[in-house]
Amino acid sequence: MVLDNLGSSLRGSLDKLRGKSRLSEEDVAEIVKEIQRSLIQADVDIALVQELSSSIEERALNEEPPGGTSARDHVLRIVYEELVALVGESTDLPLESQTILLAGLQGSGKTTTAAKMAWWFSKKGLRPAVIQTDTFRPGAYDQAKQMCERAEVDFYGDPDEEDPVEIARKGLEETADADIRIVDTSGRSGLNETLIEELKSIEELVAPDRNLLVLDAAIGQGAKDQAKAFGDAVGIDGVVITKLDGTAKGGGALAAVDQTDSTIAFLGTGEEVADIERFEPNGFISRLLGMGDLKQLAERVERAMSEQEAEDEDWDPEDMMKGEFTLKDMRRQMDAMNKMGPLSQVLDMIPGLGGGLMDQLPDDAMDVTQERMQSFKVIMDSMSEEELENPRSIGKTRIERISRGSGKPEETVRELLEQHKMMSRMMKQFQGMGDSDMQRMMKQ
Ligand code: GDP
Repeated sequence: MVLDNLGSSLRGSLDKLRGKSRLSEEDVAEIVKEIQRSLIQADVDIALVQELSSSIEERALNEEPPGGTSARDHVLRIVYEELVALVGESTDLPLESQTILLAGLQGSGKTTTAAKMAWWFSKKGLRPAVIQTDTFRPGAYDQAKQMCERAEVDFYGDPDEEDPVEIARKGLEETADADIRIVDTSGRSGLNETLIEELKSIEELVAPDRNLLVLDAAIGQGAKDQAKAFGDAVGIDGVVITKLDGTAKGGGALAAVDQTDSTIAFLGTGEEVADIERFEPNGFISRLLGMGDLKQLAERVERAMSEQEAEDEDWDPEDMMKGEFTLKDMRRQMDAMNKMGPLSQVLDMIPGLGGGLMDQLPDDAMDVTQERMQSFKVIMDSMSEEELENPRSIGKTRIERISRGSGKPEETVRELLEQHKMMSRMMKQFQGMGDSDMQRMMKQ
């Protein structure tokens, strides 16, 4: 993802500053070089890189660190502030009635983004609807309809109508009850007159409150031209960067933001409806620098918990904190974890665990963990009520039976029981903790 290597390479240089109270010119030069290298690798525009490096250099050498601040913290703060300034504020999107138009080239992820954004607004308690006007790409209608069904949001489209402006007009009428109307438009494989003219006509009719440009993270330097063309045609208020879960770096999108004088609205991190994040500059840069992103994490946990509670009504997480931690509790926790998204993304948000820990793990370690969770679930499905409530009663013969029943090796059944013991011990520790201990832990 954007500037992915920055966190680890920068931490290396910063660690060399440990114990120092003053920064030398060489120290600053080394750090600036690391930052430049990462930014250029991430496809960030050279002019932007130059601008950023000179501000960091100047501030690091001239600003007096506040009393008691180490050289490391001083420079980290400056880098953090300058990077936050580079990525800019997040696009202003009030949680109230509005119409949003999505533009972008074919394949950039518009249709997917429309459904994801609708899902995101629905989780904020609003009623969104997606209007699909893409008559150019075969299959766009079905894809949008299916995704909106999965997102459980209203949808309007008409596979028999050829005029996108007419679809937009009808769509606005049909979705009059919605709070948020997201209008998806056609893309083309490249920029051309027809695309721009069609977009202008839809924009004129819809008169959206916000125009968002959807960009694939892999766009690189081409972002500038695209941004200019779309910006000249309809004006761009914000950018959505998609496919940040892949290998692409996304730095090019920053040039688009700069070019259109706009900001980043959302980040797309996968193909499912829930794989979307509202862009938050502070959290984003904190995560990048390995400082964690508590806000995103808290939001995901909260969402997963409320979904879980809605699913099994008689379950109260408080009970788990008080009494015995059973395998059933463990299964619920695993379900909640799954709802939070890929484990690697979740771990990245935990302060102190982010970056640093991820760098030490082999790339596939997280997949294995996901796979293991899946096996554990299959095994638990083969257990009796009594075994789930009282895992200590599971001896050798029962392990054999469970293994046969689930089709999983005995070894994995034992691993599950071990994992449960470990989690159970951890829960006991939490139970013995006061609120202030918890808060202290979260602040670290
Ligand atoms: P459109 O032509 O702009 O409407 O693009 P689509 O929404 O059809 O997306 C093109 C492809 O990119 C589809 O296969 C999507 O599943 C995929 N896609 C979109 N957003 C993301 C994302 O954030 N991550 C990943 N991995 N794939 C995405």
